[in-house]
Amino acid sequence: MSNRDWGKFAHEKALEIFLASQECLMAHSIRAVEKHIQQCRFTPASVGYSIRLFVRKRFAAEVRTQAKAFIQEHRADIVVDADIGIEYQRRAIAHELGHILLAMYRYRQGETLARQSSQLIEDACDIFERDLCKRHHNYYCDPANDHKFLFPSLDGHIVGPSA
Ligand SMILES: [Zn+2]
Repeated sequence: MSNRDWGKFAHEKALEIFLASQECLMAHSIRAVEKHIQQCRFTPASVGYSIRLFVRKRFAAEVRTQAKAFIQEHRADIVVDADIGIEYQRRAIAHELGHILLAMYRYRQGETLARQSSQLIEDACDIFERDLCKRHHNYYCDPANDHKFLFPSLDGHIVGPSA
């Protein structure tokens, strides 16, 4: 590619990544849980812990739950139903992040790492889900936070053409 082509490539990729990032639900919370697990060293393999998110059609119909976490020593996968709407997808992901955290803490106490399910754990994950999501909600509702994610340093920069 010529230098001019790389510029065109960069414009196109910026748009593509911007659009794709809107599908990365709860990305900051997922990264924060990864970081917490990495820092707490719950398992020997947790130094590079990663959480992957999969959005799957008909998942709720097949598994009878809106989302589910598959928890391993080095990684967790969260699968969420594609058709429950963005708000409930985000809430379900928060709930599953609660399962991952609880599983890690219980694993450290000698329990199995597999996603556990009891009324006690479900209640705790519901609390985690509602607290975390409500904190996000309150944060974005607060006018004091309106401009924290703007880039005034880029005044004058013109973005490439839209798709
Ligand atoms: Zn649950």
